[in-house]
Amino acid sequence: VLRAVGVTKRFGDLPVLRGIDLTVTAGEVVCLMGPSGSGKSTFLRCVNQLERPDGGYLEVRSELLGWKRRGDTLRELSHREIARQRRGIGMVFQRFNLFPHLTVLQNVTEAPVRTRALPRAEAERTARELLERVGLAEKGNAYPGQLSGGQQQRVAIARSLATRPFLMLFDEPTSALDPELVGEVLAVMRTLAEQGMTMIVVTHEAGFARDVADRIVFMDGGVIVEEGPPARLLSAPSHPRTKDFLARVT
Ligand code: ATP
Ligand code: MG
Repeated sequence: VLRAVGVTKRFGDLPVLRGIDLTVTAGEVVCLMGPSGSGKSTFLRCVNQLERPDGGYLEVRSELLGWKRRGDTLRELSHREIARQRRGIGMVFQRFNLFPHLTVLQNVTEAPVRTRALPRAEAERTARELLERVGLAEKGNAYPGQLSGGQQQRVAIARSLATRPFLMLFDEPTSALDPELVGEVLAVMRTLAEQGMTMIVVTHEAGFARDVADRIVFMDGGVIVEEGPPARLLSAPSHPRTKDFLARVT
């Protein structure tokens, strides 16, 4: 579903990604871990085309992101084509960033209605199903400010599912939450994983990674230093940077 090849990115003279190679297959759950500043968010933002890599390339479902091959030259995609590519990829951030002036139901229907992916009535039906899936069927008419952080984050997940993405990106979705609210959000993500969603999850939640991830990818200093199944990576990391990091978060 996703292939990153030699992806590099720098901000000014700070190299943030220094050659990321990563392949994620359909239905796979990859947890991306690593210390602050290692480039995890920047990588997700490249996948979602919020940033553009300086080097290397990304392919999603065998389609080059941001560019089109024409013979042996490359042409930049139009905004419209980039928007189409981005619709296939859902992203949930640390901060829920819901629209505060819209109800929960309106938040979830906003994107499919605006992009005319679905007629309003159908978007609302889908939104109610999604709210049910995240355990918030009764909250459709509430405003984000009336919900707990955990509930808001579950709405954010429902909202990003509304455009029917085939790949979901999560960037520390629970790290801004009070500890007692973390579990309900992880439970929704776990269900999503069990239903076969392809997911890349940046998280420090080692328990979630152990139980749900098919693979843990450990980044440090803009490169992938180690990857493997959670059982091995969490209990017997081979790289000293991974050991250091896990000793601090677990
Ligand atoms: P954290 O765990 O703290 O979220 P991270 O692994 O997600 O860290 P990134 O947010 O990808 O790390 O940032 C990597 C580096 O790039 C950091 O040094 C950061 O300051 C820098 N950086 C990120 N975005 C920008 C930007 N837009 N302009 C300049 N520097 C940036
Ligand atoms: Mg980050």
